[in-house]
Amino acid sequence: MIKVKKRKILLLPGDGIGPEVIAEVKKIINWFNDKKSLDFEIDQELVGGCSYDKHGTPITDEVFYKALESEVIMLGAVGGPTWDNLEFSKKPERALLKLRKELKLFANLRPAICFKQLVDASTLKPEIVSGLDIMIVRELTGGIYFGEPRGIKPIENGERKGINTHTYTTSEITRVARIAFDLARKRSNKVTSCEKSNVMEAGQLWKEEVQELHEKEYKDVELSHMLADNCAMQLLRNPKQFDVIVTDNLFGDMLSDQASMLTGSLGLLPSASLGAKNKDGEMRAMYEPIHGSAPDIAGKGIANPIASILSFAMALRYSLDLDKEADILEKAVQDVLNDGLRTKDIMSEGMKDTSTSAMGDAIISKLQ
Ligand code: NAD
Repeated sequence: MIKVKKRKILLLPGDGIGPEVIAEVKKIINWFNDKKSLDFEIDQELVGGCSYDKHGTPITDEVFYKALESEVIMLGAVGGPTWDNLEFSKKPERALLKLRKELKLFANLRPAICFKQLVDASTLKPEIVSGLDIMIVRELTGGIYFGEPRGIKPIENGERKGINTHTYTTSEITRVARIAFDLARKRSNKVTSCEKSNVMEAGQLWKEEVQELHEKEYKDVELSHMLADNCAMQLLRNPKQFDVIVTDNLFGDMLSDQASMLTGSLGLLPSASLGAKNKDGEMRAMYEPIHGSAPDIAGKGIANPIASILSFAMALRYSLDLDKEADILEKAVQDVLNDGLRTKDIMSEGMKDTSTSAMGDAIISKLQ
């Protein structure tokens, strides 16, 4: 068993705009090392299409082992049209799936925050989204995306049958629910658990296990249960009713995408994928912006680095126990937006057009 090295951060910039946005994160980590006397040890490696080009595989064993011993992985993005026609096992995205699966990163945290300076970027009315701050916790390694049996098989009459199996066990449900309850305690103390207990047995089990855990360990947190289809509707009708939403892999996939678009810009939203804590309290975790490699703007120096920088703020908070530093970094991002600095994706009239690296520099100057 490879031990996690405390404070070791592995940067995996990946493809497209990945290297551009992770370069800004690197500047910020170096700032914390220099100015706050923090001792982060940084390493950087290839992953995705660029790794395939050099080594013929989207992630080498060497990089994978480095990931295993790192306390924090900061990923940029992988993929792009150059690698679209590769066989399945060589595709850039396989590197991500391997990291998530082998590192057992079972809880995906996706905040959806609507910055007040950017309410107009949302397709919803300002009063519905202004001040929105919700956290979706999606189960990431179980459910229908992994259940067996699965496949496509021939049946009678020349027809075919596609099969996927939706399964959850008690421990798979309670470990992700525990993360949601713990997070809620640090926020507005409210959890909404979503499933389809009306039509699915696995959904009924989900509801019962979350309820039982709540009664045993988290009575101080307000818990409600909601059918996932109703949650999709409520997210559009009145998203501010939610604090933490916990749900399974399939529903979480959709609900988290829906919630992220309430805020209007892909370039602003971070995410975290967390594993279990071992007996020494160590946890593996990967942090990444929710956007992809944006090949249409790669190399132009105009990508928005804020999603990646806020992903690092999540790493400070959830992996490195540096809540105060996370607060400072998030505040610096707000201050820069208040000053009217904008990358092209969030540009509006009267604001200052800012490049990727100028945005990183401006955030650092606010940190000073
Ligand atoms: P995308 O998120 O890369 O881009 C969608 C749109 O948003 C584009 O117009 C892009 O220019 C813009 N955009 C995205 N991030 C931005 C940023 N930080 N600043 C400014 N504008 C930004 O999604 P896509 O176009 O569907 O996918 C492109 C490639 O990325 C595909 O190969 C896809 O497989 C891959 N992808 C990777 C990940 C990941 O690595 N986690 C996630 C999604 C997509």
